[in-house]
Formats: sequence, C-alpha cells, structure tokens
Amino acid sequence: MPFKVTTVNKKYVQAILTQLRSKDTTQIEFRKGLVRLGRALGLEIIEDYDVEEVYVETPLGVKSKGIKIKDLDNTVIVTVLRAATPLTEGLIKVFYLAKQGVVAARRVEEKGMHDHEFEIEVSYIKVPKINSNTIVIISDVMVATGSTLVRVLRELLRFGKAKRYYIACAISTPIALEKLRKFAEENNIDLRVYTAAIDPEINDKGYIVPGLGDAGDRAFGS
Ligand code: URA
Repeated sequence: MPFKVTTVNKKYVQAILTQLRSKDTTQIEFRKGLVRLGRALGLEIIEDYDVEEVYVETPLGVKSKGIKIKDLDNTVIVTVLRAATPLTEGLIKVFYLAKQGVVAARRVEEKGMHDHEFEIEVSYIKVPKINSNTIVIISDVMVATGSTLVRVLRELLRFGKAKRYYIACAISTPIALEKLRKFAEENNIDLRVYTAAIDPEINDKGYIVPGLGDAGDRAFGS
C-alpha cells in the first residue's frame, strides 16, 4: 500500500504559512489563514481524485465535453479537535459533498513526552460509516510527533477500512512522517499526507520548531 508525502510548495500556500508562523499575526488573521490553507490543501488533494468524462448540453444546444470528479460523495472529513476546525472549514469549501466526523484527542502532557511519544487520550469520537469506497481526509494542523494521528487512525480503523486516507496539515516533521509510514505499512492502508512544510525539530515540550506555536491557542485566542 502506498505511503506518500506531498509538500505543497505553491506560492499561495507558502505565503499563508509564513503569515501563520509570524508571532505578529493576530488571532482573527490566524484563524482566517487556516481557513485559506484548508481550501488550498483541498485543491491539491482533489487533484489526486479520479475523474470521469461527462457531456453536458450548453444553453446554445451544443454538447460540451467535461469532467466529473469521482468519490466526492464518498468523502469523509475527520477533524481533530480543536485547532483543525478552521482548516476543515476551508477543506469543506472544496469537498462540499463530504460527510464529517470529529475526534477529540489530547496529548496527556502531564505524563511528558518519551522518545517523541505522547500518551493520547480520546474523549469523544463520532464518524460516519467508513467502508472500502470511503475516502477519509483527516484535518489536523500540526503533526509533531505523530502520536495523535496514529491514535486517530487506529480509532478510525475500528469503524472500517477506507479506500484511502489523506492527512491535511500545515506543518509536519520527519519523526511524525516516519511513524505514519510505519503505521500505514503495518496496517496495510493507503495513506497520503499533504503538508505545507516539514519542519526539522520538535522541542522537549513537543512543539514543532520553528513551527507556529500552539495552533489551537492561536486560532481560538486562549
Ligand atoms: N501542536 C501545536 O499546536 N503546535 C505544535 O508545535 C505541536 C503540536
């Protein structure tokens, strides 16, 4: 099964990311930036979808050849609460037929990080049916250690195995990507990561460096 990482190196995306990284960006602009980023990542992900040829008749009574994107109605977007809420708002503008799920997952920070691993507590999960026709897009802003996403994927697999899984994120790290690659291989899933950047480091508190800080706090003003 493929594991693929796409760094979205488009000017539009990189300019949004720069704004998100800046400590001078206000809460409102940060949240709006995540919405824009979600839409931009969605436009990249949709390029990966299959299409079929269709014909429509224009008001001039002429047949015109076009395309229909397959599987839009088989798409489920899963939001990892809470920072990804604005990212999902952007993704939904592209995947307007998607069903939605949510997972409330938190790092048990009190127990600390050990070997780039956090214990993850899932306090709520609600997702629509997942089967072999489903395409799941997981919306998660910061993929630092990969602990949360591995846990989220494990939880999602209990609902059934999807045709493929995408992860839409702002920043990921080599450590997280390696963990996700291993998980995809062990569980025989097709996993494709779309990230605006891969940052090199994680500090001892589990924050990505240079990163953008705490995405949830910055988006919600807490
Ligand atoms: N979550 C965040 O919000 N920021 C990080 O750097 C890592 C995890």
